[in-house]
Amino acid sequence: MRKPQLANVEDLIAAGLVPEAQREAIGKVAERYAIGLSGTLAALIDRDDPDDPIARQFIPDPGELVVRPEDMADPIGDAAMSPVDGIVHRYPDRVLLKLIHTCPVYCRFCFRRETVGPGSPTHLDALDAAFAYIAAHQAIFEVILTGGDPLVLSLRRLADIMARLGAIEHVGIIRVHTRVPVANPALVTNALAEILRNTGKTVYVALHANHPRELTGDARAACARLVDAGIPMLGQSVLLRRVNDNVETLEQLMRAFVRARVKPYYLHHPDLARGTAHFRVSIAEGRALVGALRGRLSGLCQPVYVLDIPGGFGKVPIGEGFVTGEEGAYRARDFQGESHLYPPRHDAVALDEIAREA
Ligand SMILES: *Cc1c(COP(=O)(O)O)cnc(C)c1O
Ligand code: SF4
Repeated sequence: MRKPQLANVEDLIAAGLVPEAQREAIGKVAERYAIGLSGTLAALIDRDDPDDPIARQFIPDPGELVVRPEDMADPIGDAAMSPVDGIVHRYPDRVLLKLIHTCPVYCRFCFRRETVGPGSPTHLDALDAAFAYIAAHQAIFEVILTGGDPLVLSLRRLADIMARLGAIEHVGIIRVHTRVPVANPALVTNALAEILRNTGKTVYVALHANHPRELTGDARAACARLVDAGIPMLGQSVLLRRVNDNVETLEQLMRAFVRARVKPYYLHHPDLARGTAHFRVSIAEGRALVGALRGRLSGLCQPVYVLDIPGGFGKVPIGEGFVTGEEGAYRARDFQGESHLYPPRHDAVALDEIAREA
């Protein structure tokens, strides 16, 4: 298993990413939450920019120790929906399979921040029960590998897991959620792509990235190795204050995904994870941003803006309503904000005439 290159306060100070004066404050954060940053992402940080969007995602902030009343240890209710170790089964047709709690980077806003980290127990030695659970539930069409990040596993381990999932007949799709192509693009080798492709199942890879700068030439080449091997890719992002909460950055991010042949899938409203209030935007702000994207990006570039309902009730789209009213009198708002009746009156008359002639 590969560990992040910068993994503690000392590393961050040595790299000039945390000032010496913050040693104590950041040390307190480190006692509570894992730290991890790859050399690839560290190299993207502009050390002269106090508000650098890459630094904000990965460099610990004293604000993480501020706990607000609405904060939750398990914001999306994973624990309540876990029938056996490693499995989260919320929707009948799909499960999460959490293999490990290790990541190539530790995102400061992570919704699983209470469970991920280098010292966390893995599920690797207790996977028999998870595979048995999937095999026993015919309704499971899709298995979503998450964690942690499944692509930090050794190729041998990954090949074994893919083969075991491949042997379960009713599983149709294996989806892998990862940050590796941006955090550590060199790990995405042709050998890895081959393992993902050779399962006998349809495999999708969902890439987590939040700022267009993450999609470097190396990251795009890593995506190309997967896509060229026949693996379709999806993009998922979290809407984060002072990282990507403006329409220009979101526009560039979605275009960067699509250019890399990664179809934007979800834009997540930030979860109520503990100590992450400084990353939150309001739903009203999020809706206004997503509404503005409608006018600026093609359908290919549009993600679905979703909220994971706290407590384990699943995801729900929360973008602006573009249609209001009721049967016979809908109003549809166009991308420039103009409102139009549906059906338009003259169409209604024409339909009446057709009905009369028939
Ligand atoms: C997000 C999530 C899924 C996947 O949901 P999709 O909408 O299919 O992407 C599945 N199970 C759980 C528990 C989830 O949190
Ligand atoms: S890579 Fe994913 S699981 Fe790991 S810290 Fe980041 S958001 Fe959390």
